[in-house]
Amino acid sequence: MAENKGILICGEVVDGKLAAITAELLGAGKKLSAELEQPLGALLIGKDIEEVAQETIGLGADRAYTIDGPAFLDSLPDLYVALIAAACEKLQPSVVILGQTDMGRDVAPRLAAKLKTTAVLDCVGLEIDPETRALLQTRPVYGGNATAVWVTESQPQIATLRPRSVMAAESDTSRTGEIEPLPIVVEDSAIKGKLVETVKTEVEGIKLEDAKVIVAGGGGIGGPEGFEKLRELASLLGGTVGVTRVPCDEGWLPLTMEIGQTGRIVGPDLYIAVGISGAPQHMAGCSGSKCIVTINKDPDANLFKESNFGIVGDYKQVMPAFIEKCRELLSS
Ligand SMILES: Cc1cc2nc3c(=O)[nH]c(=O)nc-3n(C[C@H](O)[C@H](O)[C@H](O)COP(=O)(O)OP(=O)(O)OC[C@H]3O[C@@H](n4cnc5c(N)ncnc54)[C@H](O)[C@@H]3O)c2cc1C
Repeated sequence: MAENKGILICGEVVDGKLAAITAELLGAGKKLSAELEQPLGALLIGKDIEEVAQETIGLGADRAYTIDGPAFLDSLPDLYVALIAAACEKLQPSVVILGQTDMGRDVAPRLAAKLKTTAVLDCVGLEIDPETRALLQTRPVYGGNATAVWVTESQPQIATLRPRSVMAAESDTSRTGEIEPLPIVVEDSAIKGKLVETVKTEVEGIKLEDAKVIVAGGGGIGGPEGFEKLRELASLLGGTVGVTRVPCDEGWLPLTMEIGQTGRIVGPDLYIAVGISGAPQHMAGCSGSKCIVTINKDPDANLFKESNFGIVGDYKQVMPAFIEKCRELLSS
């Protein structure tokens, strides 16, 4: 293998703050850094990001690298790919980790192509092979029905990490480390696309990827009004509401709430699935949940096989009693 050295995580800054995924990337990065005995760097792109760069040091980075550039949502992946590629060429890391987020999904494959290496997307586990010192990248396959471990021979080894699949690093404000601005400028010719307009979609409650509790509804809910009970439960448990493909196709709720292969990939502590059959394309997005509770009137629904707990019944009858019981337990 080439002599690349160091773990580099590509953090994300949203509205001037570190996005939750950054602490998770640092959590994974710290472990790899200890196993490989190589330093951990955090790369951040944005305007006026000194303070958040300092935060990454508190979260475990040995060094934070900053690039003066626009926030991701105000920009095009082309620019991010060019900036991160230039940073990798300068720093020569052996491992680069991004989040399996809108940014990471867009950037990682193009970054790999630019650096003539490979990228393994949507990893749920990253560790170092003690013998070969290669990065072992675990990711779900076959719609979440199995996991596979990937090893890449080229460097840097690029991986995206699924949100909430590892423990976030804890902050220690007494940690010290350098902040190094990287004076990288990208030629206009590297930007092939043109940003014409940014349309921000309204997100109901907490972002699905950040939620610790998700109450998800499917075709069995029967219409938009049925989701009121799901919202009530989500709000009681401090969570948010998600959906399968069916409510989106039917126009009951927006596509931004879809969970699954073509929707969001989530990993909450608790996933309450109501009126959902458990198709593989849906499971691909929620099988990383720590605990799945299913409410379905069909005892043979596939989701029961994937669940920790299940209630067989019509959700219209089950939900009021379920909500009442949760309220009682929370207040005792
Ligand atoms: C390429 C591709 C990509 C896809 N990507 C996704 C994706 O990202 N996400 C996704 O979700 N789907 C996706 N799909 C669609 C997927 O295959 C399924 O069709 C979809 O997940 C089914 O949604 P559902 O379980 O809500 O609906 P259904 O299959 O209609 O199931 C409804 C369930 O509700 C139960 N039910 C009915 N009434 C009640 C009641 N009153 N009380 C309790 N239970 C009740 C039924 O028993 C049934 O199990 C994709 C499909 C393809 C081909």
